[in-house]
Formats: sequence, C-alpha cells, structure tokens
Amino acid sequence: MEMITVYEVEGCWTQEREVNPTLCRLCGTKLEKVPEKGHYNSKYWSLKQNDGLDLFCCPNGCSTKKADKAFKKYYELKPFLTEESTSYNIVLDYTKIFYGWLSPRGELHPVGFQEHNYYATEVLNKSERELEVKGWAKLSKNSCFSISKEGFTKKQKDFIFDYMIAHNYDVSCLYEDEDEDEDEYIINFKEKI
Ligand SMILES: [Zn+2]
Repeated sequence: MEMITVYEVEGCWTQEREVNPTLCRLCGTKLEKVPEKGHYNSKYWSLKQNDGLDLFCCPNGCSTKKADKAFKKYYELKPFLTEESTSYNIVLDYTKIFYGWLSPRGELHPVGFQEHNYYATEVLNKSERELEVKGWAKLSKNSCFSISKEGFTKKQKDFIFDYMIAHNYDVSCLYEDEDEDEDEYIINFKEKI
C-alpha cells in the first residue's frame, strides 16, 4: 500500500464503534483514531465541529482519492457483483452477467443489453473496432467473439471457462483445435446436455 503524507480526511469523522467499525474503502482495514499530535493527519483535528465525532483514518495511509475511485468502481459494478462484495473486495457474480467487454488481461467490463458500443465510446473512449483490434473480446449472451490475430489470450480463456461453468454451459468447445488461418474467433455457448 502506497503511503502518502498529505491527504484529505473527508469521511473520517465518525464515532468509535466496536461493532461494525468504519472500514477503509480501499483496503478494508479498520479505521483508527488519529493521535492529536505527531501524526501526519493530526493537523486536521482543528476542523472538528461535532462533539460526538472523532477523527479516524486508515492505518495504512490510503488516500481518499483512491478510496473514492475504488468506491465509484464498486458502485458501477454493483448489479454484477455478489451480495458479499465490498469496495475493497470486488467479486463478480457471473450469473448476473450476460454482456461485456473482456480485456486482453481477462478483466471483464460488464455492460447492459446492446450497450457494447456505448461503453466502448463513452467509457473507454475507443470505437468497438479499435478495442477488437487491440484484442478485446466481446461477450454476448450466446457467444464470445474476438478478431485478435492470436485468438483469445490465456487470461481471457480462464475467464470464459469460469463464466461458462457458472452459467452451466458445456465447456468442451474450449478444447477444440483452433484453425490458425482464422481471422475471427468465436466461442458459442451451449447449455450442458
Ligand atoms: Zn486503507
């Protein structure tokens, strides 16, 4: 965890609670009360306004900026995550996912029905074609598609395997030989018989 010496303490004014203590949104560690002197956050005690609240911060020195980013990502992905997911432990629930972009590193960006184009241009600032040329695979309800010359990457295949298992699809097609002359790769999902 990167340690920083100056950071915003917004959101860290809270009550001390033994049960359900406030956790760092970035690393999940229990927030600790900031000492009134000698800590790089001690200067913020001067901002105290409410008697019932004390200043807490992550003992690992996580920045609010990064925590905000993690929480934003978590919030956007929430419809596609397990109930237990948190901003510091994002776990995809494959059964809630039917469409998305799969990066060459195997990271899924879930999208809604007919939202591939919107997500590509508005969120990733690329055209669909640009993403596909760069090796991104397009996940749809019935198939996963790639035009990358090398076919699906190992990490994409790992994702697709887990995805197919979660959806109860027949994974045997993953082990079929690939035709090296192909310029399109497609894996068609079929229910297990
Ligand atoms: Zn932290």
